Amino acid sequence: MKTVAEHLATVLDGIGALSPLELTLLDAHGCVLAEDVAATHPLPPFDNSAMDGYAVRAADIAGATESTPVTLPVVGDIAAGSVTPYSVQPGLCVRIMTGAPLPPGADAVVPQEWTDEGLAQVSIRAAAGVGAHIRRAGEDVAPGTTVLTAGAHLGATQIGLLAAVGRDRVLARPRPRVVILSTGSELVDPGQPLTPGKIPDANSALLTAAADEAGAIAFRVGIVPDDPRQLLDTLEDQLIRADLVLTSGGVSVGAYDVVKDALGRLGTVAFDKVAMQPGMPQGFGRIGPDETPFFGLPGNPVSAYVSFEVFVRPVLRRMLGVEPISRPIVRARLTGAVSSPRGKRSFARGWLSVEEGKYVVRPVGGSGSHLIASLSAANAFIVVPEDATQLETESTVDVMMLERRQR
Ligand code: AMP
Ligand code: MG
Repeated sequence: MKTVAEHLATVLDGIGALSPLELTLLDAHGCVLAEDVAATHPLPPFDNSAMDGYAVRAADIAGATESTPVTLPVVGDIAAGSVTPYSVQPGLCVRIMTGAPLPPGADAVVPQEWTDEGLAQVSIRAAAGVGAHIRRAGEDVAPGTTVLTAGAHLGATQIGLLAAVGRDRVLARPRPRVVILSTGSELVDPGQPLTPGKIPDANSALLTAAADEAGAIAFRVGIVPDDPRQLLDTLEDQLIRADLVLTSGGVSVGAYDVVKDALGRLGTVAFDKVAMQPGMPQGFGRIGPDETPFFGLPGNPVSAYVSFEVFVRPVLRRMLGVEPISRPIVRARLTGAVSSPRGKRSFARGWLSVEEGKYVVRPVGGSGSHLIASLSAANAFIVVPEDATQLETESTVDVMMLERRQR
C-alpha cells in the first residue's frame, strides 16, 4: 500500500501552473496575473467633487457662519459624467454633484448640507478651506504606476482595480477545466424517479461543486453506466475540453468496476491502494494525446470527497499557480474519541469551532463512507495519523479546515 504522502507526490509530479492566456476580466477572477499592470491614466482621472454641493472660491465664503451666511449666485449645474462649460468667477458658484469635474476657478466644494440648497442663488452657512471636498486627479494612482505585479492573485478587489484602471482583458493563468463524470449503472440523475436498485448520482454534483470551490472551471458530464465502451467513448469526447478528468466509482475489485477495467488496459493509469480511510482505492494516471491527468476516485461519496480534498484539490491549485495548495491544518482540542485502523491515515468528519480563543473539534457522525449526511454536517476533517488507532478525548489533534473558500 502507498502512503497518502507518496500518492500525493505521485499526483503532483509534473503538474505546473497552466500557461498564461489573455482573459477577459471576469474570466480572470480567481486566477494568477501573468503580467505587470500599470495605470495609463491617473486615478481619479480628473479633479472632481467628493460631495453633492457647490463649487466655490474658498476666499468668497471665508466669512460664512450660521449667523452671517454668504449668499452667492449659482451660475450653473454640473452632473457626474458631464463636462463643464462654466468657470467659477469671483463671487459666483456652480452647483455640483459627487464625481463631477471641478470647474475651472473653483478651489473648494461646500456640501449642500451647509446651505439652503438654492438653485438660483445659495446661502452658505460655513466656510470651506482651499481643497475642501475635492478629490485630486492621481491622488489614488499616479499615471504610470504599477498597480499589480505578475503573480498577484486576482480576487474581487483586484478585479475591481483592473477595471478602474481601464483594463477589460489581462494576461493571466487560466482556471483549470475539469471534466467530471460518475460511473455506475445504479445511478440516476437527481430529480429523476428512483426505480428499485437505483440511487441518485450524488458524486458528480459534489465533485463539480468542490472543483468550483477549488477555483476550477468544472464541467459536470454526469452519469456513465458500468460499460467500458461507453466510458472510453465519453472520455474521448470530453478530453478536448479538459485539463483534468475526474471520475468516481468503479475503481475497486468488484466484477463491474468499469473504470479499472477500461483504463487499466490503457497502461497509463495505475490503480493503487492508498493507506487511508476512507478512500483506499485510487486510480491516477495520464490519458489522451495531451496526457491529461486522470483521477479515478472511489464511488462512495465520502471517499470521493476526501480523495478530492487530499489529492485533487492540490493538483488544481498547483495548475492555478496559487498557494497554499492544500487545505489549512490547525491544532484543536478533541471533544470525543476517534478510532482508526492501524497503518492508515483517517479523515474523520468533525465540527471545528473556536471556544475562548482556541480551536475545538467535535466528531460528527459515523465513519461509514456512504454517510453523506454527516459529511455535510462537518466543516473539517480530524486527521488520525497512520501510527495511531485511537485519538483520546481532550487530546490535541490535527484538523483539516474545509470551509474557507479560496478562489
Ligand atoms: P463503486 O466504487 O463503484 O464500487 O461504488 C461504491 C459505492 O458508492 C456503491 O455503493 C455505489 O452505489 C456508491 N456510489 C458510486 N457512485 C456514486 C455516486 N455517483 N453517487 C452516489 N453514490 C455512488
Ligand atoms: Mg460502481
